[in-house]
Order: sequence, then C-alpha cells, then structure tokens
Amino acid sequence: MSGLSDYLKRMQDSVVSRVDELEDALWELALFLHKNPEIGGEERISCQKIVEILSEHGFDVKTGVAGLQTAFVAKAVGRAERPCVAFLAEYDALPEIGHACGHNLIAAASVGAGLAAASVINELDGSVAVVGTPGEENIGGKAIMAEAGVFEQFDAALMFHPSDRNSLDQRLLALDPVKFTFAVGGKDGVPYPVSKRTYDQAISFMQQVLEEAEIGREEKNAALKRLLSLDRRMYG
Ligand SMILES: [Zn+2]
Repeated sequence: MSGLSDYLKRMQDSVVSRVDELEDALWELALFLHKNPEIGGEERISCQKIVEILSEHGFDVKTGVAGLQTAFVAKAVGRAERPCVAFLAEYDALPEIGHACGHNLIAAASVGAGLAAASVINELDGSVAVVGTPGEENIGGKAIMAEAGVFEQFDAALMFHPSDRNSLDQRLLALDPVKFTFAVGGKDGVPYPVSKRTYDQAISFMQQVLEEAEIGREEKNAALKRLLSLDRRMYG
C-alpha cells in the first residue's frame, strides 16, 4: 500500500476505535434527548447537554450563534484552522410526538463523529467542528445561520438523517448528494491545489468507500459512474 493509503487506514482505525469507546456515552446522549424533547427554538436543555459534552472533550464552544439562543459552534483545531469539516447536529423535537423523526440520533451521531475526528486532529492539517443547528422543523435554523455567514468558516458540512434504509439519492433542497469537486493547479479562487497523485489516490479511496457502502445497487452504480466520469474529464 502507498503512503497515503497506510496513513488513511491508520487514521480510520483510530477513529473507529474511538467511536467504539464512546458508544455508551453516545447512546446515553441520544436517549437523554429522546426523554427530554424540546421543540425548535426552545432546545435549551438539549443544547446545554450537548455543549457540556463537547466542552468536556476539549472543544472550544460558542453558543448563541447567529442570534439563535440554542445554536452553537464547537471546534477542535488541529495543525491548521482550514480546511474545517463540520458535523451538523439537530436536536429539535416535534410537538406532541417528541423525537419522532430521530433528531436525537442526528445530534448523538454528529457529536460522536466530531469527538472521534477530534481524537486524531493533532495529526491533521485542519480542524473539525460540531455545529448545533436548532429549529429544523419550524424556524429553519440552518438557513438563518447560513444567512448570518456562520458556514463561511467550514469547507464541508456533513450530517445524517435516520431512515429505514441507507440511501445516497435523497431528493432534498440544496443537496446534491454525490458531488465530487477537486481543485487542481492553484488557479485564482482555488484554495487547495492537489497533486495528480493525491487526486488519483482520493478517487480510488472514494471508489473503495462507494463499493463497500451498504446502499442499493442502482444508486451505487450511478455514484460510481459519476465518480469515474470525473476521472475521465480530468485526463480524457
Ligand atoms: Zn427530521
């Protein structure tokens, strides 16, 4: 295996074992939120609980972001501020039926992803953030935060939403679920130039991830086709 693959494998192993270590604490958080459902804009106990956990693990936390009392940005900075990958946490419940669509799980998953990534952040040229985006079901916290420029400090933002199946092709607003973009050559406006070698390794890494993903065959083939057409466009 090449140097980059070894490195990625090592990182992946330590991040995965960190998730295993955190398992009980993450379930405890998910169940705590489930037992204490709060509707959008009023997620005070939920927000406080999440922020406490992140602070305990060394994240630098700012609350009240974008004028929203229950929004926050928590960061763990590695050897550089950028690139910064953000994991988005939702924690608002629905009136009367509580966490019926599982935002408690979104919060626990993003906290877990953030804490696991933070465990190797000192070895990385970048930073990781967990971002609390309140009121998803009513006020649309993410839109308010985006308008206030909160997302300018991030290079990628990720989250998952629970469902009864794994899927790449959800039809959601403002979402192109499998879009691959590479900046090559360092031209104006291109922030992170990559070498051809790194580019090739990243493509084969993503190919491997897609091949191993537990998703429908059609979706998988479509995503692989898109990935490989990017490769052809580059060198074709
Ligand atoms: Zn939902």
